[in-house]
Amino acid sequence: MEEVEILVIGTGVIGLAIAAELSNHYSEVVVVEQENSFGRHTSSRNSEVIHSGIYYPQNSLKALLCKKGNELLYRFAETNAISHRQTGKLVVATHEDELPALYQLKKNGELNSVAGIKLLSKEDCKAIEPEIKAVAGIFIPSTGIIDTHNLMKSLLTHAERNDAIILFKMKVTAISLVGKGYKVEFANGEIFHTRILINSAGLFSDKIADLAGINTESHSLRLHWCKGEYFKASSSHNIRHLVYPLPDPKGIFLGIHLTLNLNNEIRFGPNAYYTDKLDYSMDEHSKNDFLKAVNKYIDIDSENLHPDDTGIRSKLQGPSDSFHDFYIREENDKGFPGLINLIGIESPGLTSALSIAELVRKILKSGNGVLHEL
Ligand SMILES: Cc1cc2nc3c(=O)[nH]c(=O)nc-3n(C[C@H](O)[C@H](O)[C@H](O)COP(=O)(O)OP(=O)(O)OC[C@H]3O[C@@H](n4cnc5c(N)ncnc54)[C@H](O)[C@@H]3O)c2cc1C
Repeated sequence: MEEVEILVIGTGVIGLAIAAELSNHYSEVVVVEQENSFGRHTSSRNSEVIHSGIYYPQNSLKALLCKKGNELLYRFAETNAISHRQTGKLVVATHEDELPALYQLKKNGELNSVAGIKLLSKEDCKAIEPEIKAVAGIFIPSTGIIDTHNLMKSLLTHAERNDAIILFKMKVTAISLVGKGYKVEFANGEIFHTRILINSAGLFSDKIADLAGINTESHSLRLHWCKGEYFKASSSHNIRHLVYPLPDPKGIFLGIHLTLNLNNEIRFGPNAYYTDKLDYSMDEHSKNDFLKAVNKYIDIDSENLHPDDTGIRSKLQGPSDSFHDFYIREENDKGFPGLINLIGIESPGLTSALSIAELVRKILKSGNGVLHEL
């Protein structure tokens, strides 16, 4: 049995950010991943947007970690030459009825200390994005886009330079509390013993918590999977900013929005529907819904809209629930000292990766399981 100090489960952007951060401070960090490479699930199936933090309730982890993560991510991308662009973002009201929700969103962003949000008239919107149809909008300067693959690669390189060990094809199948730590068993027969166990297993993080002995059902930590599909545009447009409609009033997703990639190609999505299948396939079944949603703010015809990619969100918020925050804590009070669970790390998880990693380090340092101050 291998003895290690810290074992991190998962090489998505969260596990890699945690490994990079902790390996600056601890000597024996091992990261295990069931797939044969990093970022094979949610971290490579998203919009690659560096969010600002306007949407989330004040003082929620999502609000605090997104705002902080946004700043840390731009700095990290600049220092490590990761392609990114601070595009800014336009949220548009396409009908007078949406104006109260637009003003409310601006107010919420300001309560979350997001800097520089501007209210735009119909004419302002036209001046900024002539092709976009809007009766009013808000502009948020701190939103941007980033090359997620190279971000993960860079985090992995940082961790390895600090002597962290990253092991692929290591699927965790059993966990038991043994002495001062955890015995972790793998599908390939390997067994590790670790003092600290960090569960950043994304879509499977509730299953990992279950394996450790936490009753996720009774603690409301059971994940709901929620698929999001993207369509790409083939027509040429001169769009410079990300463009979002008002978010879904139930808070399940941000609305089918327009994002740009670093080559200035336009993608629309993601939509959102709950599923229990790990199925990333994509077809045209939702094309009409996309055309309807997108044509509210930009003219696109059916011939110019093509199925692209999909991703699956790991949500603590079920179909009829209201807002759920990220769940990040050491499980002392449940009888599992040294086990840190990260569950429900949906959007803005990519943006928050570096601030989440910092939070995990502070939780470990504080030793009391809950951190009250970021
Ligand atoms: C459609 C969509 C769009 C999004 N857009 C954005 C956005 O624009 N901006 C933003 O900030 N956020 C966005 N997000 C959220 C962001 O992508 C996630 O928060 C983030 O990628 C989560 O990373 P993760 O490391 O927790 O999960 P993952 O990337 O899924 O990584 C978890 C890893 O754990 C491994 N694992 C699981 N079980 C085991 C096991 N038993 N043994 C070993 N390894 C295991 C998996 O194989 C996987 O590699 C979006 C999400 C989706 C779905």
